[in-house]
Amino acid sequence: ELEISLKVVIVGNGAVGKSSMIQRFCKGTYTRDYKKTIGVDFLEREIEIDGEDVRLMLWDTAGQEEFDAITAAYYRGAHACVLAYSATDRDSFDAIPSWKLKVENECGEIPTVLVQNKIDLVDQCQIDPNEAERLGRALGCKLLRTSVKEDVGVMSVFRHLASRCLIE
Ligand code: GDP
Ligand code: MG
Repeated sequence: ELEISLKVVIVGNGAVGKSSMIQRFCKGTYTRDYKKTIGVDFLEREIEIDGEDVRLMLWDTAGQEEFDAITAAYYRGAHACVLAYSATDRDSFDAIPSWKLKVENECGEIPTVLVQNKIDLVDQCQIDPNEAERLGRALGCKLLRTSVKEDVGVMSVFRHLASRCLIE
């Protein structure tokens, strides 16, 4: 039986929690002072979707996103994408359309999900819920909310993307 392998890229401004999300999903761990230099290109985890084993390879960046210096190699062959912003960082939300365009330019249209992370910091939220829903609709992406810290919603992000990839 052929195993399905999917390359997933996770983009968004620095400090929104991309590396933490990868670490959480693949290793089940969370640290506040996550090292920027992860040292590997990706971490992986296998999950089962409708009786199929799916290997997800989650590609991380080493902070190049802060200099707008992500290389084409990072995007090459990606099957799915997470567009991530932080509930506490308005700029990261405003940057989402340009991240979507970058991914589209490199990968074409691939299954993509919009993720609002850090929902545990409720009192610091800078995004109106309606506005977030509107952006999701405008970009044609499902909006999901996560707290990587408290392990809320992370599994749903990757199950959703894997299911979408199996359908297409
Ligand atoms: P990246 O630059 O997008 O890879 O972001 P990091 O994964 O390095 O995370 C940046 C900071 O946000 C770190 O201190 C994380 O511990 C913290 N962080 C990540 N996810 C969450 C979350 O869901 N809630 C809270 N409160 N902090 C988070
Ligand atoms: Mg990072």
